[in-house]
Amino acid sequence: LLTATGLRKSFGPTEALVGASFAIDGGEVVAVMGPSGSGKSTLLHCLAGIVRPDQGQVRYQGRDLAELSDAERTALRRDEFGFVFQFGQLVPELSCLENVALPLRLAGTRRRQAEAAAREFLARVDVAELGPKRPGEVSGGQGQRVAIARALVTRPKVIFADEPTGALDSLNGERIMRLLVAAAKETDAAVVLVTHEPRVAAYSDREVVVRDGKTREPVVAA
Ligand code: ATP
Ligand code: MG
Repeated sequence: LLTATGLRKSFGPTEALVGASFAIDGGEVVAVMGPSGSGKSTLLHCLAGIVRPDQGQVRYQGRDLAELSDAERTALRRDEFGFVFQFGQLVPELSCLENVALPLRLAGTRRRQAEAAAREFLARVDVAELGPKRPGEVSGGQGQRVAIARALVTRPKVIFADEPTGALDSLNGERIMRLLVAAAKETDAAVVLVTHEPRVAAYSDREVVVRDGKTREPVVAA
């Protein structure tokens, strides 16, 4: 589904990636592990078309991301990818329901239909009752559930999750992982899961290790 080969990326003098490869199939959950500063987030950003690598290729469904226009890349991120980060990054001025409906609204779905889907996905991650609340009024774990509902509501083919449990205690972190993996399997989404916690990585089908900007695992072609 999504493959990358020979990725290199520098930020000024810092070589964040010096030869990273990656491949993931539909419905697969792959954990990206490695020490702080090893290049995990940079790899995720390259895979998602947020950062353009200096060298190497990222292909999604066979298409080279570098050959798409900016508008096509933006549409791809909006329509086919979902994102969950360490801190939910919900819009504080909107209710939780409006936050989950937002990606659909941005894609042109009517309010009533978008909010119906948002309600369904909030229920799917067991926080149906949070719909009317603002993000500031819910706990960290609840906010992460809302963020997962928002990432899933467009039924993305790939979910990019960067330390999705990083701000949670281990019990809530494991609950979030169970939800994320179950929801992804239900919608047959692939999950690229960046984490440094082995207990979180245990929810993946497979692990890839990044060290000093290099991926270590032999990569099985998708
Ligand atoms: P962590 O586990 O701490 O999140 P990471 O493995 O995700 O680390 P990256 O964020 O990919 O690591 O960073 C890899 C290297 O690239 C680091 O040395 C970092 O300082 C550098 N880097 C990443 N993004 C930028 C940027 N936008 N500008 C400058 N340097 C950057
Ligand atoms: Mg990171």
